Amino acid sequence: MAGTLIIKGGVSLKGLQREALAALDECVTVFSNRGYEAVLTSARGDRHGAYSHHYKGLAFDLRSQHLRADEKQEVLAAMQATIGPDYQCFLESLGAPYEHYHVEYDPQHVVSYPDI
Ligand SMILES: [Zn+2]
Repeated sequence: MAGTLIIKGGVSLKGLQREALAALDECVTVFSNRGYEAVLTSARGDRHGAYSHHYKGLAFDLRSQHLRADEKQEVLAAMQATIGPDYQCFLESLGAPYEHYHVEYDPQHVVSYPDI
C-alpha cells in the first residue's frame, strides 16, 4: 500500500473480504497520488440498506469531504479505472453532510441501492 489509510473510530476492517481489501489498497494509492489521506468511514458495520454489499463484507466507504470540489469526480474516475469493472464506485450524497465514496465488489452489477 502506498499512502496513508486512516480508519475512523469505531470502524473495523474485520469481516471485509479480500476483494474489498484489495480495492481498498488500490484506492489508498489513488488518494495518495493526489496528496490526500484515505479515511475509511464505514466497512462491514454500521447500518446500510437491506441489500447492501456492506453486510457481505464486499463494500466500504471513504471520506470525500476533504477533497477539493473539482477533484471529487476525478478521484472517483481514477478509483474506478484502477480497481476495474468488477467493482463499482459511487460518490454518494454529493453536497450533503454525509457525502462519501462508496466502493463495492460487484462483478454481476447487481443493483444494490448501496446506502439507502
Ligand atoms: Zn457504502
